[in-house]
Amino acid sequence: MKKFFILAAFALSATFAYSQAKYVFLFIGDGMGFGAVTLTEDYLAACDAKKTGSGTLTFSTFPVTGFATTYSASSFITCSAASGTALACGSKTRNGRIGMNEEATANFTSIACRLKENGYKVGISTSVSIDHATPAAFYAHQPSRNMHYEIAQDLAESGFDFFSGAGLLNPQGKDGKQENVFDRIAKNGYTVVRSLSECQTSTAPKLLLLQPENKPPKAYPYAIDRESDDYTLAQTTSIAIEKLQNSKGFFLMVEGGKIDWASHSNDAGCMVREMVDMSDAVKVALDFYHKHPRQTLIVITADHETGGLNVGTSAGSRRDIAGLERQKASEEKLNRLLAESISYSTLKNWLVDNMGITIGYSDEIALRSLLAANVKDTPANDDDPFTLKKADPVAKDIMRMVSAKSNGRYSTFDHTGTMVPVYAIGEGSELFSGKIDNTDIPRKIAKAAKVKWVE
Ligand SMILES: [Zn+2]
Repeated sequence: MKKFFILAAFALSATFAYSQAKYVFLFIGDGMGFGAVTLTEDYLAACDAKKTGSGTLTFSTFPVTGFATTYSASSFITCSAASGTALACGSKTRNGRIGMNEEATANFTSIACRLKENGYKVGISTSVSIDHATPAAFYAHQPSRNMHYEIAQDLAESGFDFFSGAGLLNPQGKDGKQENVFDRIAKNGYTVVRSLSECQTSTAPKLLLLQPENKPPKAYPYAIDRESDDYTLAQTTSIAIEKLQNSKGFFLMVEGGKIDWASHSNDAGCMVREMVDMSDAVKVALDFYHKHPRQTLIVITADHETGGLNVGTSAGSRRDIAGLERQKASEEKLNRLLAESISYSTLKNWLVDNMGITIGYSDEIALRSLLAANVKDTPANDDDPFTLKKADPVAKDIMRMVSAKSNGRYSTFDHTGTMVPVYAIGEGSELFSGKIDNTDIPRKIAKAAKVKWVE
């Protein structure tokens, strides 16, 4: 009999181990695979002057870890639209769709909408444009991720409480002749603010925080290229919490959108800084969790892996992880430089100064043959400026060489189909352990929040 009571008590505690996740954070590292996590922690160790070992991202020591499959309805290798839809709405769709089924005949309901209907306030935050695929999947329903104007219209209709991102890509449509979507956003009660201080002091009930108008709407600058007045994900996460906190709870999705972009460029030095930037934002959420440990759930995952990043090369043990720390500029800056007329000597000096590398004999051969295959006219000597047919592929190939010097070996410039990590802490976090699918994540969040999931 005694044994029965012990077993019953155990079963009861297993079933009701958590009360209710009232404050829910979902961080999505766009393109963040296990390679990105590992290389960033190696980089953090190198920053601490360690010759080997591992540094620690804020979230990698969370008590619950798992891994998620990411395939879409149309491919083993997903895009951010299909995986964003899976993470937001708990259903698979084909690549390119936002919050809709494969045939684009029906809308899905996102976890953000489900929680909003249950009294939670909702915030959606990213380091890229707010109409980009991942954030859009939480509030929009469109057949194509490229329908930025229509996605922005859905944002205006969402009723969500807080948005932050770089800007809107096509506020007057692709032809620039449509009704300005900012008018519709204002009509629906949103205040658009374009500085952190203005956002902090605003008492408006619904806010859209964007970069100042003199900055591009496409994305925040890379962390590695950041100026003092640029936003960080930690700053916008902190403001989002201030704006969303209320007695009924909130859901905040934060996307580290440029981990993916740096990985598409095979730029490991830039990617690790984006990882640290998201880790700093998670730290803000973690501080909040420590104040409300029995009511807060934090989940970290990725929508897919990008770049096929492998930590190791054929000369692995001799590679120089500290080179990542010496890198001072992104592929984006290199790309801009290569789009101009430039001499070999200037380029070589720029790479040494900004990429923190030495250029040895075999690097010289590789660099010269890469340029020779891409120049419009062959220069007379190393000081004679040349122009490239296309700067972008050359910049990416150079970054692939630079990254490999620090053990970051990329296998593709695109997404891969490998599983991605899941980390969780707080109320209901135990639901996220083991092998799961990306569509399970919003369903488990609903379960942790004690909100019924009706199909
Ligand atoms: Zn991508």
